[in-house]
Amino acid sequence: MKAAQITEPNKIETIDTPIPTPIDDEVIIKVMASGICGTDIHILRGEYMGEYPIIPGHEFSGVIESIGSAVTRFKPGDRVAVEPNIACDNCFHCLNNRHNFCLNWSAVGVTRPGGMAQYVTAPEKSVFDIGELSFEYGAFVEPLSCVLHGVERLGPDLASKIVIVGAGPIGILLLKVLNLKGASEIVVVDTNVSRANFAKEMGASQIFTDLDDVPKDVFDVMVDATGVIPVMNRCTEFVRPGGKVLLFGVPPMGAKLSLEAFPIFSKELTILSSFTSVRNSYQALDLLKQGRINLEGLISHKLPLEELQHGIELIERGAENVKKVLIQPNS
Ligand SMILES: [Zn+2]
Ligand SMILES: [Zn+2]
Repeated sequence: MKAAQITEPNKIETIDTPIPTPIDDEVIIKVMASGICGTDIHILRGEYMGEYPIIPGHEFSGVIESIGSAVTRFKPGDRVAVEPNIACDNCFHCLNNRHNFCLNWSAVGVTRPGGMAQYVTAPEKSVFDIGELSFEYGAFVEPLSCVLHGVERLGPDLASKIVIVGAGPIGILLLKVLNLKGASEIVVVDTNVSRANFAKEMGASQIFTDLDDVPKDVFDVMVDATGVIPVMNRCTEFVRPGGKVLLFGVPPMGAKLSLEAFPIFSKELTILSSFTSVRNSYQALDLLKQGRINLEGLISHKLPLEELQHGIELIERGAENVKKVLIQPNS
């Protein structure tokens, strides 16, 4: 099979490698759609915890090709998506329902081979039947799960006034989920005009392309969906006293924030973060299957495996028309 491998920071190669065989509780999935995520870009740029070489890709869907002897929920031909974070279910954190902090954590596409390949292996417990859902939508089960976990952490009040900074695919998913959670108003900010306009089409009440234009001290909630340090440094400016900040975007490892301490104190701010997801895959699937989260217009590119590097560069350049970029390793 063909796979895209990051051999060392800043280097991707298309390699030929044997199709894996499933052992015990594993399934082999023929990958049909695999989304490029900011995390893949961090891995490529040497800014993440993964080891090299690695086949990236943790947001994917496909068809069960074969199953190990202990697998009971799946058969070849089933259409599936994967929850890439694999918890041991037997450590201090797992036994306290904090699987995202598992002490023996591994992840498809981060610590073990991922979905930027024609075939990938995953344990049965990480695999979810997507039924008739399209493979393209199936590739959003993982990012949507993460967004659902973040919104659960945030617990916004009904009729919250919210500002989301960053209108990439994650910012748009946050916009849609927060709309479902009964926000009264969602303002979206992105310096990229076409992204900001797209957020408006997707249901933003108002858009801005400059943080300096956003009203201060008025929002119940500010969500950062950029992971960009200078943006995160301004996260306390926009929320009202007693407001909440959700830092959702993934910052580069090793980078430091510089926040003025006094407003955190005097405004009684709650600053939250969110790390991956905890058992949110069925929720994500149900919202997608029922059309409660509609991704129409969110996928801008579908590329073959050999163009993974090109896809990543498109996202990094932030070109006008780039939204979610999917790789189709078997097309
Ligand atoms: Zn991701
Ligand atoms: Zn564990």
